[in-house]
Amino acid sequence: MPNQQNSELSVLTVPAFNDNYLWVIHDGQHAAVVDPGDAGPIRDALSQHGLTLTAILLTHHHADHIGGVPSLLAHTQVPVFGPRYDGIEGITQALGEGERITVPGLALELEVLDVPGHTLGHIAYVRRTPGAHWLFCGDTLFAGGCGRLFEGTPAQMADSLAKLAALPDDTLVYCAHEYTVSNLRFAQAVEPDNHGVALRMRDATAKRGTRLPTVPSTIGLERGTNPFLRYTEPGIVKSLVDAGRLKSGASPVDAFAALREWKNVF
Ligand code: ZN
Ligand code: FE
Repeated sequence: MPNQQNSELSVLTVPAFNDNYLWVIHDGQHAAVVDPGDAGPIRDALSQHGLTLTAILLTHHHADHIGGVPSLLAHTQVPVFGPRYDGIEGITQALGEGERITVPGLALELEVLDVPGHTLGHIAYVRRTPGAHWLFCGDTLFAGGCGRLFEGTPAQMADSLAKLAALPDDTLVYCAHEYTVSNLRFAQAVEPDNHGVALRMRDATAKRGTRLPTVPSTIGLERGTNPFLRYTEPGIVKSLVDAGRLKSGASPVDAFAALREWKNVF
């Protein structure tokens, strides 16, 4: 579990299931966990680092993001922050766009963004501290890709991703799954001339070869290499048209929708 140092707060990467990452934000004493889909790995990380859980933060209602909450709460009562409109039971602090929270036990302020698309109520948490910009975006933005549209429309997801893309370039992107290499394989197919994608693929493949995580990435890297933030680029539009997946002259949202559908079957 690598430990990224950012001023006084650190983020632990806790792998779970096949390809999930659960995030533990801590100050060496207290800890908040983001999307604890499984309680076991969280408990192990807390005890290994001598941490006391002080808060739970949720991004959306899928089981691989909330499944460990009851078990964690059975041992300790802590506030549960989560989306107002995603149908999650047991949230004690319901959140939506523009709200700010101070995470109990930590010197950590987070701002909430509504990012519908993967689910309708999905939220993201942003830390706006110069030199330590962080984004916890669940299954909305992935390294090199984006979440599937289980509930929202392409237009909603495109708007949500645009909000995230507008964050500072140095924002660390703590997404919830290790999908990077397969996402970049798709990125290479739709934007073969993007040298940044090729470089990133080399880096990600090397990391995965030694089981290292490829996340967090940064917003700057995503803007340069993630096709789901680049669907208005002429090269990507041309790939969609050449593949028979888009009519030339179609709208940007149509291009986004066609890109997401292509990835679903890639
Ligand atoms: Zn999900
Ligand atoms: Fe997930």
